[in-house]
Amino acid sequence: MSAPLTIIGSGMAGFGLARQLRNRDAERPITLITADGGDDYSKPLLSTGFAKRLSPERLVARPALQVAQDLNVTLRTHTFVDAIDTSSRSLQLGAETLAYDQLVLATGAAPTLPFTIPDELAERVMTVNDLDDYRRFHSSLAALQRPAKVVVVGTGLVGCEFADDLVAGGHSVSMVAPEEILLARLLPAELGRALGDAFLEAGIQLYCGTTVSFFWHEQGAVAVKLNGGDTLHADLVLVATGLRPRMTLAASAGLSVSPNGIVVDRYLETTVRGVFALGDVACVDGLNAMYVQPLQAGAKALAATLTGSPTLVNYGPWPIMVKTSLLPIVSLPPVESAVRWRTEGSGRDLAAFAESDDGQLQGFALTGDCVRRKVRLARLAPPLLG
Ligand code: FAD
Repeated sequence: MSAPLTIIGSGMAGFGLARQLRNRDAERPITLITADGGDDYSKPLLSTGFAKRLSPERLVARPALQVAQDLNVTLRTHTFVDAIDTSSRSLQLGAETLAYDQLVLATGAAPTLPFTIPDELAERVMTVNDLDDYRRFHSSLAALQRPAKVVVVGTGLVGCEFADDLVAGGHSVSMVAPEEILLARLLPAELGRALGDAFLEAGIQLYCGTTVSFFWHEQGAVAVKLNGGDTLHADLVLVATGLRPRMTLAASAGLSVSPNGIVVDRYLETTVRGVFALGDVACVDGLNAMYVQPLQAGAKALAATLTGSPTLVNYGPWPIMVKTSLLPIVSLPPVESAVRWRTEGSGRDLAAFAESDDGQLQGFALTGDCVRRKVRLARLAPPLLG
């Protein structure tokens, strides 16, 4: 029997690709290997579950066994790929060697931590980047049997969405980050301040312009020492200080990697023929977007390529919808850094336009009622990858 097309990773990229492949070829042997439980879930929903008090089970769209049956794939769960040998086209899984025909790395991105979490605080200081993390955080919250005091470290998209969601779920939240404004990578200062005002009004305490120095265990809770001198006390700490593509496998196998991910061309092929990368781990033509729409476009193009129709991936001008119910936000950050921001509107209803020297729209950010303008503005903006 010929070796299967093999996908490492069962996130939205891995499963998305398997689905697209099956639309084009019902029979080709496909093996999907994942370090986690392999349940199909939508990662963006992780930061909307606490408001609705969703159990981890409610976030599972389809259990692993059912996905394997529906997609007619061999799904190996709780299986870690230790190494890739591209010369013999094989994978090392512990003591087992597994041959592949073509290989796709969809290994995603892992949280980065700017500090060490003491072992005794592992159940109180956490990151939430997959379903298993959500399970742990959810069970620690449930164990309290009362609203929790949560410190969220990081004021990027993930930190702001979790803060908003936890407050909506009745918990009390403080946020800590070195940046002076919220969502600093997605919004110009005026709009970041508008979100900050909405958060403050909802009772979220903001410690901006400072960082966490260290944690310690104190009377069944966590004490968080800030560099500015304050000490916060919390039941739980949620760390959302960024994600880094998981590239160790690729780098050890001799594939080219950059700080932004595994280097791939517009066919999503790495520097080794027959090995591809997709999703948060892939840096496509110098760009790693780390959002759902780019990985969906990638899955579609790669499925065509792997079934005999080589297809370049294109990314449109896709705005990011930030799931902050306290203030709706949409952002299409400019790819070019040489832009001027121009802002219209008042109060919390703001529209900011990133324009080049010749007045061309390069990106935009919208808050409040102005989010309604997203579709029309997106039509005027350049594609992320044209
Ligand atoms: P992952 O989901 O991380 O999957 C990686 C897979 O690789 C896992 O199955 C893992 O077990 C496996 N794996 C890794 N290493 C190995 C190994 N060595 N051996 C075996 N298996 C391995 N994007 C949006 O567009 N809109 C949103 O609203 C949005 N909200 C978000 C909210 C949160 C809280 C987070 C964390 C992200 C959000 N994103 C959002 C980003 C989006 O969810 C990600 O871009 C996307 O889910 C990444 O999917 P992936 O398959 O590339 O990676």
